[in-house]
Amino acid sequence: MKIGIVGIGLIGASLGWDLRQLGHEVIGVSRQQATCETAEQKGICDRASCDLASLEATEVIFICTPIAAILPTIERLIPHLQPQTIITDAGSVKGAIVEPATKLWLNFVGGHPMAGNSESGIAAFEKGLFVDRPYVLTPTPATVPSALTTVDELVRSLKAIVYQTTPEHHDLAVAWISHLPVMVSASLTGACLAETDPQILDLAKKFASTGFRDTSRVGAGNPEMGMMMAQYNREAVLRSLYRYRDRLDGIIDSIASKQWSEIEDLLATNQAARPDFLNSND
Ligand code: NAP
Repeated sequence: MKIGIVGIGLIGASLGWDLRQLGHEVIGVSRQQATCETAEQKGICDRASCDLASLEATEVIFICTPIAAILPTIERLIPHLQPQTIITDAGSVKGAIVEPATKLWLNFVGGHPMAGNSESGIAAFEKGLFVDRPYVLTPTPATVPSALTTVDELVRSLKAIVYQTTPEHHDLAVAWISHLPVMVSASLTGACLAETDPQILDLAKKFASTGFRDTSRVGAGNPEMGMMMAQYNREAVLRSLYRYRDRLDGIIDSIASKQWSEIEDLLATNQAARPDFLNSND
């Protein structure tokens, strides 16, 4: 297949590499010429340039730009495309993208690979990034069935675990397991940094080990992406944050009133429930 990738960063480059390994011809488009040169040198794309017109003969295009650039990119792509070309995206938010994108281009299928790392840009690309990871597709009644089947088969060939749900359900679910953790993790580090005694702060930095590394990681990733999660999934992120704040208030009350069994019960419940959130690959 002839496949286009727009935005050759962590996700776009990882997709490009894996798709090439499967024998597809991959044509990349990115904003910076230097990114395009790196993509060709590293074998991520067969050809790469800053010119969207280079994608005119492609069958499927993955838009892997930051969320804010997805719709404007589709608008700029349209004059170059043949009607049968399928467009899919990798954006971490679907409600704000899928409906307007489908209005712009009928052969659009919303997608979200649930894989990544704390780095960004082409240098962060990983081979086999999507293997055994969830990859969510978000069809709507307007989605063209054959386009959905093509994208489903392509991402399945990356050995991803494919799920299909509505954009709305996707956004509510990822608010819990992706967007809320970013905000919680960021506020955890922010609270530590607000320690007013410099000696204690210095000791905390020296003593930090695996627990802090695990809990601070997701809040220390690409700041632009975290901001866009909040901006484009605002209602669902707020819904989760309010409920999280209630939980936190409950913990504060239990500790303040020395209700140690409440704390133990909460931790025991969480200990039992956590495996349900971890895919068999973790
Ligand atoms: P990224 O590493 O920052 O890559 C995005 C790349 O797009 C940049 O390297 C940039 O390359 C290029 N770009 C930026 N603006 C552009 C534009 N207007 N037109 C064309 N190219 C542009 O970001 P990412 O982590 O791969 O995320 C990409 C998308 O995947 C986002 O929508 C994000 O929500 C989603 N996603 C991310 C993750 C994750 O964990 N990182 C996971 C799942 C989904 P240049 O160097 O050429 O400017």
